Amino acid sequence: MFDNVPGDYGFETDLLHWGAYIDPEKTRHPESMPIYLTTVFNAEDLDELVKIRETKSFNYNRTRNPNRSALNDIITKLENGQASLCTTSGMAAISTALLTELKSGDHILTDKTLYGEVFDLFNQILEKFGVSFTIVDITDMDEVRKNTRSNTRIIYTESASNPMTTVCDVEQIAAFAHERGIKVFVDNTFMTPYAFRPLDHGADVVINSLTKFCNGHCDVIAGSITGSADFIDKCLANQWVLGDGLDGMSAYLCQRGLRTLSLRMERAFSNAEKLATALQKNPHVSLVCHPSLPEHPNHEIAFRQFKGRYGAMLSFDIENGTVETLNKFLHALKFVHYAASLGGIRTTVSVPAHSSHRRVPKEMREACGITDSLIRVSVGCEDIQDLVNEFTQALEQAYC
Ligand SMILES: *Cc1c(COP(=O)(O)O)cnc(C)c1O
Repeated sequence: MFDNVPGDYGFETDLLHWGAYIDPEKTRHPESMPIYLTTVFNAEDLDELVKIRETKSFNYNRTRNPNRSALNDIITKLENGQASLCTTSGMAAISTALLTELKSGDHILTDKTLYGEVFDLFNQILEKFGVSFTIVDITDMDEVRKNTRSNTRIIYTESASNPMTTVCDVEQIAAFAHERGIKVFVDNTFMTPYAFRPLDHGADVVINSLTKFCNGHCDVIAGSITGSADFIDKCLANQWVLGDGLDGMSAYLCQRGLRTLSLRMERAFSNAEKLATALQKNPHVSLVCHPSLPEHPNHEIAFRQFKGRYGAMLSFDIENGTVETLNKFLHALKFVHYAASLGGIRTTVSVPAHSSHRRVPKEMREACGITDSLIRVSVGCEDIQDLVNEFTQALEQAYC
C-alpha cells in the first residue's frame, strides 16, 4: 500500500501516485511527532474499515487526527482529567461544552467579569434555544445562593478573570453546586494547569483557550475541554457534527508550545509579581490589580488556591488617563507591544475599554472597575529590570 506503483501507467497516473509515501516501517521512531496533514486515511478493505471504527483509529480528520489525539492526551494529563477534546479555538471549546451539557429550559449562573464573547454566546445563541442566564459576583456566595434556581444546570466561572484578576473559591462553589446537582465549569485560561487544576478542586469541566499561555507563542488559535470520559465522549459526538476539531498543524504547534509551559510560567509569574510591585510605587499609577498584592480583594483565596502563584496577567490604572495620555504611553513603549490577545512569551498591553470590553456598556464596565484608562498587561519572559524600566520610562513620557 505504501510502495510506488510500478507498471505501464500514463504520465498523469505516475505523477499522482509515485513518491507519495515512505514506508512507515522505516520511519517508526522519529524523536518529534510528524505532522499529519491529511484529511483522510485509507482502508485496505471493508474489514479494515470496521476495525478502524472498533479501535477508534484514524479515518477522517474531522473526527480524529493523530496530532489532535496527542494534544488531547497531554491536556488530560496536565489537567488531571479522564479525557480531553481539542478544538479550533477557546470559544469553540466553550460552545461545544455548553451545547453538550445544556438543554432548553436550563439556566446558567455566571460571573460579571466573564470573558466578553461568552456573554455573546449566551445572548446570541443559547437564549434563542431557551437557555437563560444570570450574572452575579461569583466571589460573593450570598449572591450565588440567592440567584440559584431549580433549573440552574451550570455555574460557569474563570480561574482568574479578565482584566481585574478576580479569583473565586472553586472548592466552595463546587460544594454548593454539587449539593444541588449543578455542574461547575471553569475556564482555566489565565492560570493554566501549571498553576491550577480546577478538577482537583471539585470542578466538573475545565476549559482552556490554548491560544494563550498554554501554547504561548501567538501562532495558534486553539482550545480544549477536559472532564469525565463520559462527558468528553458526548462532546466528541457533538464535535463531529459541529466540525470544530483542531487541525494537525495547529495541534502540533500547540503540543510544542506546551513543552515549555513550566519554564515560561515560572518566569512570567515572577516577572508579573515584580512588575506589579514596581507599578504600585509609580507616582502616575492609581491602582494595580494583581492577586499577589496583599491589597487585592482575593489575595487570600488566590494564595491558598494557587499555592503561592498568582498568574501573569495584571492591570493598572493611571491618573487622568485620557486617550491622549494613553496614546503617549503606547508610543513611548519600545519593546512592549499593544495586542488584543494575551499569553505570549513577550509582554503585551491592551486597554480593555477600547478592545475586549468595548461593547460592554460603560456603567457595567465601571462597576467591575474597568475604567477607560485601565491598562491590561500580559507579562512575558523578558529580563525583569528591562520590563520595569520599559513601563517606568513610558509612564514618565506619557505625563511630560
Ligand atoms: C481568549 C480567551 C477565550 C477565548 O479563546 P479563543 O482561543 O480566542 O477562542 C476564552 N476565555 C478566556 C479567559 C480567554 O482569555
